Amino acid sequence: MLKFKSIFFVLTMLFVISCEEETTIQQNQAYNTNAILWQQHAAEYRALAHQAFNIAKVQIDNLAGLQASIKPWAVIADIDETVLDNTPYNAKMALLGKEFDKASWFDWGLQKKAKAVPGALTFFNYAAEKGIKIFYISNRYEGQKQETIENLKKLGFPNADAEHVLLKASTSGKEPRRMEVKSTHQIALLLGDNLSDFSEVFDDRAEGMAHENVEKMRLLFGSKFIVFPNAIYGHWETKEIFDGNYDWTPVQKDSIRRAKLIAY
Ligand SMILES: [Mg+2]
Repeated sequence: MLKFKSIFFVLTMLFVISCEEETTIQQNQAYNTNAILWQQHAAEYRALAHQAFNIAKVQIDNLAGLQASIKPWAVIADIDETVLDNTPYNAKMALLGKEFDKASWFDWGLQKKAKAVPGALTFFNYAAEKGIKIFYISNRYEGQKQETIENLKKLGFPNADAEHVLLKASTSGKEPRRMEVKSTHQIALLLGDNLSDFSEVFDDRAEGMAHENVEKMRLLFGSKFIVFPNAIYGHWETKEIFDGNYDWTPVQKDSIRRAKLIAY
């Protein structure tokens, strides 16, 4: 009888734990769903994207004719959530109740269905007409190069070719690829939705570092660094909220989020 009771107790506990896990997965999805909805439906998101490209255009106009450069001018742009909109991928994963994984991400990339971020096409073609080269430095995988180029080309982006699309080969840090571009070009602007798109200084997000460095470099935002909103994913979440640990369970993620909310 005692044995039966303890088996019953263990089964009940397992049921409770699995229910709790399921509920928390749903909570995590709900959290992500709101961020996806904001990026897909808020006209404020669209306005922010235009605002970013308008500022970028002003900077390009300020360059023209003012500073003769020995090296040709270039703009460095991240791709995902800066040039291409991948929110349909995030939406699909949210509906399926799944998190990001390499296989599904490759599958989305292969479909070449990503649309342009509002204002991106106009800005990049404007810069290209001024003789400025665009280099796309993205942490899409090197194995996604062909479809990424085709997706960009299909939408009408300039410099959509193997020479100008630099994906993640060995390291996710973008500094070596930026240095490669700097060796032959003068960098006018950097565009991105993640601080690591601008400087290696931001690769370190240990306690408070990114905030401190943003303050130190505040004059560069809107002049050399053009930032795009992304509330769905980024180092702000993986490194700052979850401390660079990718192994948290949904239950742990939920309590970390709650613990990090700043209330009064
Ligand atoms: Mg990005």
